[in-house]
Amino acid sequence: MTELKRFYETFQPTHYNIYLDINRENKKITGKTTISGNAKESTISIHQKDLAVDTVQANDQDVSFTIDRDNDAIRIDLPQAGETTLTVTYTAPLTDSMMGIYPSYYEVDGVKKQIIGTQFETNFARQAFPCVDEPEAKATFDLAIKFDEHAGETILSNMPEKKVENGVHYFDTTVRMSTYLIAFAFGELQSKMTTTKSGVKVGVFATKAHKANELDFALDIAKRSIEFYEDFYQTPYPLPHSWQLALPDFSAGAMENWGLVTYREAYLLLDPDNTALDMKQLVATVIAHELAHQWFGDLVTMKWWDDLWLNESFANMMEYVAIDAIEPDWHIWETFQTSDVPAALQRDATDGVQSVHVQVNNPAEIDALFDAAIVYAKGARMLVMVRALLGDDALRAGLKKYFEAHHYGNATGADLWAALGEASNLDVGAIMNSWLDQPGYPVVSASVIDGNLTLSQQQFFIGEGKEAGRQWRIPLNGNYDAAPEIMDQQQVNLGNYNDLRKANGKPFRLNVGNNSHFIVKYDKTLLDDILADATSLDAISQLQLLQDLRYLAEGHQLSYAALVPLLSKFADSHATIVNAGLYRIANDLKKFVLAESKEKKQLQALFDQLSSKQVARLGWTGKAGESNDDQLTRPIVLNAALYAENEKAIASAHELFSANSDKLETLSAAIRVFVLRNEVKNFGSEALFKKLLTAYRQTSDASYKSDICSALTSTTDPALIMKLVESFEDANTIKPQDLRAWFRGVLANEDGQQAAWDWIRNDWQWLEDTVGGDMEFSTYITVIASIFKTPTRLAEFKAFFEPKIQTPGLTREIQMDIKVIETRVKLIKDERQAVNDAVSEAVK
Ligand SMILES: [Zn+2]
Repeated sequence: MTELKRFYETFQPTHYNIYLDINRENKKITGKTTISGNAKESTISIHQKDLAVDTVQANDQDVSFTIDRDNDAIRIDLPQAGETTLTVTYTAPLTDSMMGIYPSYYEVDGVKKQIIGTQFETNFARQAFPCVDEPEAKATFDLAIKFDEHAGETILSNMPEKKVENGVHYFDTTVRMSTYLIAFAFGELQSKMTTTKSGVKVGVFATKAHKANELDFALDIAKRSIEFYEDFYQTPYPLPHSWQLALPDFSAGAMENWGLVTYREAYLLLDPDNTALDMKQLVATVIAHELAHQWFGDLVTMKWWDDLWLNESFANMMEYVAIDAIEPDWHIWETFQTSDVPAALQRDATDGVQSVHVQVNNPAEIDALFDAAIVYAKGARMLVMVRALLGDDALRAGLKKYFEAHHYGNATGADLWAALGEASNLDVGAIMNSWLDQPGYPVVSASVIDGNLTLSQQQFFIGEGKEAGRQWRIPLNGNYDAAPEIMDQQQVNLGNYNDLRKANGKPFRLNVGNNSHFIVKYDKTLLDDILADATSLDAISQLQLLQDLRYLAEGHQLSYAALVPLLSKFADSHATIVNAGLYRIANDLKKFVLAESKEKKQLQALFDQLSSKQVARLGWTGKAGESNDDQLTRPIVLNAALYAENEKAIASAHELFSANSDKLETLSAAIRVFVLRNEVKNFGSEALFKKLLTAYRQTSDASYKSDICSALTSTTDPALIMKLVESFEDANTIKPQDLRAWFRGVLANEDGQQAAWDWIRNDWQWLEDTVGGDMEFSTYITVIASIFKTPTRLAEFKAFFEPKIQTPGLTREIQMDIKVIETRVKLIKDERQAVNDAVSEAVK
């Protein structure tokens, strides 16, 4: 692809005066933007997209211009280069795309309403006003907004409102910032406010469809997160306020607009009296993530999108650092081990995956960059590795330097390594570049060879992989001093194993704490030594053991059948993450059995065997004062018991349903999904279906909505499945932002798969028109690839997606996903018999 010339090279804005008149009724935006800046050449380009430009003036004189749609550009001929004030007048449509300036829809007491908000990352500011829409093109902004306003409406932006004149709202001049972080919103809003110790005003805003107490949790977390960051970064929050706004229609999870963070409602608002602990933790980490960006991303911004990882990896690590500090009892780093770590290990093992740092040229590629498992999860893991090497004191000192050197400006990864290196006297860049610029990660084999304990590294692949001779500088974190701190060779010999074992008095282990991005393959001697006393290891080490073995099985370096006998060893653990690791393997075994088969019955028996003691211990109802681990383990084991079709579990869930059928929303949120799903699956009827779908439309509780989605998509009734698929395109029932979860639910349901698959193939164009502009679009393909497992589906997948392989932004995803399904099909073919034999043996 051709190298895109950056517009900042031709014109460098310093200040914008933006006037917008937004009419919801006519769905039209009228705008006038004045940009002061320095023209480096006499022909300059600024960005626009879908703007109908009326006039362009330079220093108050009309100048000639052309619109270049292919490059989102206005090309302007100036009388001369130098200091220039450009004025552009234009109109633009107000569309429902969830990008640029867009409406969100909701209902209060049956009355349809809308709220206008913005989403400008990555490159949608250009749909709202002409600008140099590149992160490096930082400037100050004066925003003035008029709209078809009625009484009781509120307008918010990055900065406080200065005045209202003739219906025009004027905001204070911003600090120097990037275009993608500009935001505003207006409509009928409710709010809750507080102030941090240092005097920053913190607010949470939502539509009036929500109960007021749904804003409380977010307000508390936001306030304490900002206080934490001001201390940790030793750098004050740079703006007068920090608003958190929930938008009813939102494409991503949340967006770190400076001073006006926007969120999907599910990630900001919650019922403080009935929300599961893991959901509260998720909301807290999302808020802490966005607020980490207010410094890292907003105050200091990546120079270009190739360093997007710098923003996201860092915020993804800091969300855990912050929440661990303000809610220590949650042990939130354990969640990192069961969410980000496996996401990164899985995705990063497929050959063809992008590296964390990746070149990007055109806008479609920029959106495809948001490969969450890599840019967020693997990147965070890299920084966790750095943090473990540096320690927090050096990390904080380095960050303070970094913010001082680059505030209100831009930086690259090298700048961060330099600041951290200076603070720690370590060559951080030299260690990190092998992780940053290379895709994939190593498996370190630990073996006793000729009596010597020997380590070697090799790239780990799930599925076919082309050996490219990659090597990494691996922080080993071995528990024997003989292991080097950093392994930078292909192979190392640690010396005589028997001597080492005797001297250390414990089994040899690597990657203790699981902070480095690699997996370990121990030979039989070493693994047996660890397994002999595995249940006395800490929870993260037990999870890590199960997780690494699972990946070795996925990568065909170990048989899944060998994992089956291990499961019962860990089944009585009270640690949530051990159970999470255990049932991740157990759930993986489902791919080896067919519906209604003898093998499935055996697997169900295994699930019953693994879960029965825990179900008896924990029951369906939470007990006062029970541990967080018990709260979080209960859903895992109940889910297993219901998969097992344990009669008692089915009856208990049915009883809970019947006793609460007139107030299902009040069922404990931790187990509600199982009660509803059990009812739909085992006692379903059209009446129940209608009742739940109506509740879905009416409730404003995102957790309840998600539970209903999960329940309804598990129906086995073909007529009801058709009804669900018909609802996919009915935005009054299923909002486009929520459609992927519904689609996934039906596709994963063996009775629904054909209907969902037919739908997406037949209505691909509709899907592309509805969510195609959006960075989530390609994840529909990922979802399909995460489910398909037969040669027939593989062939159908290829037939449908291979012709689309040249679509910008989809190329890599389609290539990777074909490989993902191929690998699964092959794994099942190769291992089905052995796995089912092992399960049969385990339940004898
Ligand atoms: Zn982020």
